[in-house]
Amino acid sequence: MLETIREKWPEILNDLKQEYDITDVSFKTWLLPLEVRAVEGDTIILVVPEETVGLQYIKKKYSTPLKVCIAEIIGKSFELEFILPDQTDSFDSQPRLEVSQEKDVFEKAGLNPKYTFSSFVVGDNSNLAHAAALAVAESPGEVYNPLYIYGGVGLGKTHLMQAAAHFILTHNPHMKVLYVTCEQFTNEIIDAIRNGGPTANVQFREKYRNIDVLIIDDIQFISGKETSQQELFHTFNALYDNNKQIIISSDKHPKEIDNLEARLCSRFLWGLSVDLQSPNYETRVAILRKKIELDKYPPISDDVLEFIASNVSSNIRELEGALTKIVAYSKLTSSDITLEFAQNVLHDLFSKSQMEITPDSIIKIVSEHFGLTVNTLISKKKNQEIVYPRQLCMYLCRTLTDVALTLIGKKLGNRDHTTIIYGYEKIQREIDENEKVRNDVEILKKKIIPG
Ligand code: ADP
Ligand code: MG
Repeated sequence: MLETIREKWPEILNDLKQEYDITDVSFKTWLLPLEVRAVEGDTIILVVPEETVGLQYIKKKYSTPLKVCIAEIIGKSFELEFILPDQTDSFDSQPRLEVSQEKDVFEKAGLNPKYTFSSFVVGDNSNLAHAAALAVAESPGEVYNPLYIYGGVGLGKTHLMQAAAHFILTHNPHMKVLYVTCEQFTNEIIDAIRNGGPTANVQFREKYRNIDVLIIDDIQFISGKETSQQELFHTFNALYDNNKQIIISSDKHPKEIDNLEARLCSRFLWGLSVDLQSPNYETRVAILRKKIELDKYPPISDDVLEFIASNVSSNIRELEGALTKIVAYSKLTSSDITLEFAQNVLHDLFSKSQMEITPDSIIKIVSEHFGLTVNTLISKKKNQEIVYPRQLCMYLCRTLTDVALTLIGKKLGNRDHTTIIYGYEKIQREIDENEKVRNDVEILKKKIIPG
């Protein structure tokens, strides 16, 4: 039976796609990666090569349609069991293509038409966030509510949220989707108060409570704004109680936002919170290629792309900026984009000549490089993604400044000077043994040292 099902699997999937009108992006993200592992009695075991977000969601959303199509094509009913792979990985689906027809609708909703799922490159840094955003876009208000996306500057939060909005509007043009920045949201509250009178307030409430999807970007700016927090609390409840989707982004986890009411913080965590990390080297190259394709840049050779990707790793906005700059200069000067040309153009981007080298500047540059906030970097957290950059700071502060160890310790979250020595020695050892560490130190030094 296993063989039959495997053989017919493409047909089953195709049938499913047609019958249920599944979009390309959903199909490629959820269904194509499924693997028929075994048949045990009346149960088909399917492997979901994804972390839990994907598994639960696929089970909920696609079990029934899959069962129907299997029964139709195989002629027998089966139960389905979804499992995670024993050995991880190989999930590498890159959703493509989605046609946007009505630009105005998107612009009215406050969206940048460029930010779609098809222009978003999925890498291991964004796998989970992408899957969650797509799940929410397919089933607004039904799965993760709210969806809370967080991560450092320029890592794709706005892009992903808007992609979800875009997807929703493309497939449900009647839905009322509203994207606002936190600043817009708080300004409107202030205006409503200033313009006085109950009507202003009523208008505000009408606007924010009669929608299907509310997206608020950069919610960290609500920190300390009590009235806005109160209003958001009531807006949140009204929408949530009516199963309306809420999507929020922030540069921090809710618990790390200072001066955020506890009741809001807990609501932000009711649904799913996912983070976006800095992309790895391969993903950075893929993002550059995507940008070249989308913006119709002239072909650019691999050595130039590799040069950019290995030198700009802190955030995607900078990565794109570096590419745009090289292309613009080559047009202006009618030069070919050779490696040497690229190196020259980017020279000043990497050298921060006005900056003095201090523990603060080092901590800032290292944080940005790894897409972390300074607060996270100097926090007490012990996960490797944070410990490693923190130890790099210890090493760089010790080698590039002559600031006392106790002061370096103080700057790095009140740590003891022995911790600094330990971190310094660890990196020093690893520089000899580990090429990645050696490269990271090289690149960071380039960023830190003026000239
Ligand atoms: P954030 O809101 O996290 O600061 P943005 O969403 O504004 O970041 O992203 C910054 C830039 O990088 C945008 O131009 C966006 O299109 C691009 N970008 C971010 N992530 C990706 C990705 N995974 N694939 C392609 N482009 C991306
Ligand atoms: Mg943003």
